[in-house]
Amino acid sequence: MKNSSSSKKFYPFAFLCGTTGHSFKVSQKITNHINEYSCKNCGCQMTDSFNGKLVRLDNKKKEVNECLSSFFQKKQKLRLQRSI
Ligand SMILES: [Zn+2]
Repeated sequence: MKNSSSSKKFYPFAFLCGTTGHSFKVSQKITNHINEYSCKNCGCQMTDSFNGKLVRLDNKKKEVNECLSSFFQKKQKLRLQRSI
């Protein structure tokens, strides 16, 4: 069963993306090389893919990023413990 909480947020400057392109900023850091981005004008979400391209962030990629993020954080903890 899907629990879709679609709370549409209003973006008054969304029309700018059609003319000047999106204005992305990093919304979440996943690993050293993979980030999630959101456009500050329209709220469009993108992520880095494994081949280095910017792709739209859908539910499947969000789940993959969450797994990757937890794996990366565990790896960072192990690396810190070994260096002490
Ligand atoms: Zn945009």
